[in-house]
Amino acid sequence: MSHQGSCHCGAMTVTIEDDPIEVSECNCSICRRTGALWTYAPPACVAVTGEGIGYVHGDKMLALFHCPTCGVITHWSTIDPDYDRMGINLRLFDPRLWEALPRKFVDGASW
Ligand SMILES: [Zn+2]
Repeated sequence: MSHQGSCHCGAMTVTIEDDPIEVSECNCSICRRTGALWTYAPPACVAVTGEGIGYVHGDKMLALFHCPTCGVITHWSTIDPDYDRMGINLRLFDPRLWEALPRKFVDGASW
Protein backbone atom coordinates (compact mmCIF):
# COMPACT_ATOMS: atom_id res chain seq x y z
CA MET A 1 0.00 0.00 0.00
CA SER A 2 1.37 3.41 -0.88
CA HIS A 3 1.61 6.30 1.54
CA GLN A 4 1.71 10.01 0.92
CA GLY A 5 3.41 12.59 3.06
CA SER A 6 3.72 16.32 2.57
CA CYS A 7 5.67 19.32 3.72
CA HIS A 8 3.96 21.68 6.16
CA CYS A 9 2.41 24.00 3.58
CA GLY A 10 1.48 21.19 1.20
CA ALA A 11 3.40 22.52 -1.80
CA MET A 12 5.44 19.32 -1.91
CA THR A 13 4.26 15.75 -1.51
CA VAL A 14 6.20 12.52 -1.38
CA THR A 15 4.55 9.17 -2.08
CA ILE A 16 6.22 5.88 -1.23
CA GLU A 17 5.02 2.53 -2.53
CA ASP A 18 5.91 0.31 0.37
CA ASP A 19 5.54 0.40 4.12
CA PRO A 20 8.75 1.50 5.85
CA ILE A 21 10.25 -1.22 8.05
CA GLU A 22 12.61 0.85 10.16
CA VAL A 23 13.47 4.46 10.93
CA SER A 24 17.02 5.70 10.37
CA GLU A 25 18.26 8.48 12.58
CA CYS A 26 21.56 10.01 11.50
CA ASN A 27 24.00 12.13 13.48
CA CYS A 28 25.74 13.79 10.53
CA SER A 29 26.18 17.57 10.49
CA ILE A 30 22.93 18.19 8.62
CA CYS A 31 20.67 15.49 10.03
CA ARG A 32 21.43 16.39 13.63
CA ARG A 33 20.27 19.92 12.85
CA THR A 34 17.15 19.13 10.85
CA GLY A 35 15.89 16.19 12.91
CA ALA A 36 14.91 14.27 9.79
CA LEU A 37 14.13 10.56 10.17
CA TRP A 38 14.89 8.51 7.10
CA THR A 39 13.60 5.59 5.16
CA TYR A 40 15.21 4.56 1.89
CA ALA A 41 13.80 3.38 -1.43
CA PRO A 42 14.72 3.12 -5.11
CA PRO A 43 13.82 6.39 -6.87
CA ALA A 44 11.49 4.45 -9.19
CA CYS A 45 9.32 3.63 -6.16
CA VAL A 46 9.00 7.22 -4.95
CA ALA A 47 6.95 10.06 -6.42
CA VAL A 48 7.77 13.65 -5.47
CA THR A 49 5.51 16.55 -6.47
CA GLY A 50 6.40 20.20 -6.17
CA GLU A 51 9.68 21.92 -6.85
CA GLY A 52 12.13 21.48 -4.02
CA ILE A 53 15.34 23.39 -3.46
CA GLY A 54 18.36 21.12 -3.42
CA TYR A 55 21.24 21.67 -1.04
CA VAL A 56 24.54 20.05 -1.97
CA HIS A 57 27.40 20.02 0.49
CA GLY A 58 30.58 18.23 1.48
CA ASP A 59 31.65 15.55 -0.98
CA LYS A 60 28.78 16.48 -3.35
CA MET A 61 27.36 12.97 -3.41
CA LEU A 62 23.76 13.93 -2.76
CA ALA A 63 21.30 16.78 -2.70
CA LEU A 64 19.04 17.40 0.26
CA PHE A 65 15.72 18.90 -0.78
CA HIS A 66 13.42 21.23 1.09
CA CYS A 67 10.23 23.12 0.30
CA PRO A 68 10.91 26.72 -0.87
CA THR A 69 7.83 27.96 0.98
CA CYS A 70 7.81 26.28 4.39
CA GLY A 71 11.38 24.98 4.51
CA VAL A 72 10.56 21.41 5.52
CA ILE A 73 13.16 18.82 4.47
CA THR A 74 11.46 16.32 2.16
CA HIS A 75 14.03 13.93 0.73
CA TRP A 76 17.52 13.45 -0.58
CA SER A 77 18.68 12.04 -3.87
CA THR A 78 22.11 11.21 -5.18
CA ILE A 79 23.88 13.29 -7.81
CA ASP A 80 24.84 10.04 -9.53
CA PRO A 81 21.68 8.99 -11.41
CA ASP A 82 22.83 5.35 -11.43
CA TYR A 83 22.69 5.07 -7.65
CA ASP A 84 19.42 3.29 -7.01
CA ARG A 85 18.55 4.68 -3.63
CA MET A 86 17.12 7.84 -2.19
CA GLY A 87 16.13 8.98 1.27
CA ILE A 88 12.65 10.05 2.31
CA ASN A 89 11.96 12.05 5.46
CA LEU A 90 9.42 10.01 7.42
CA ARG A 91 8.44 13.07 9.43
CA LEU A 92 6.35 14.13 6.44
CA PHE A 93 4.07 11.16 7.02
CA ASP A 94 1.41 10.28 9.56
CA PRO A 95 3.32 9.28 12.71
CA ARG A 96 1.23 6.10 12.94
CA LEU A 97 3.15 4.89 9.90
CA TRP A 98 6.58 5.08 11.52
CA GLU A 99 6.70 5.98 15.20
CA ALA A 100 6.51 2.41 16.47
CA LEU A 101 9.14 1.09 14.05
CA PRO A 102 12.62 0.14 15.24
CA ARG A 103 15.10 3.01 15.21
CA LYS A 104 18.37 2.45 13.44
CA PHE A 105 21.18 4.75 14.44
CA VAL A 106 23.28 5.85 11.46
CA ASP A 107 26.67 7.19 12.42
CA GLY A 108 26.91 9.66 9.54
CA ALA A 109 29.17 11.91 11.60
CA SER A 110 31.98 9.34 11.31
CA TRP A 111 31.84 8.94 7.53
ZN1 LIG B 1 6.03 23.55 2.09
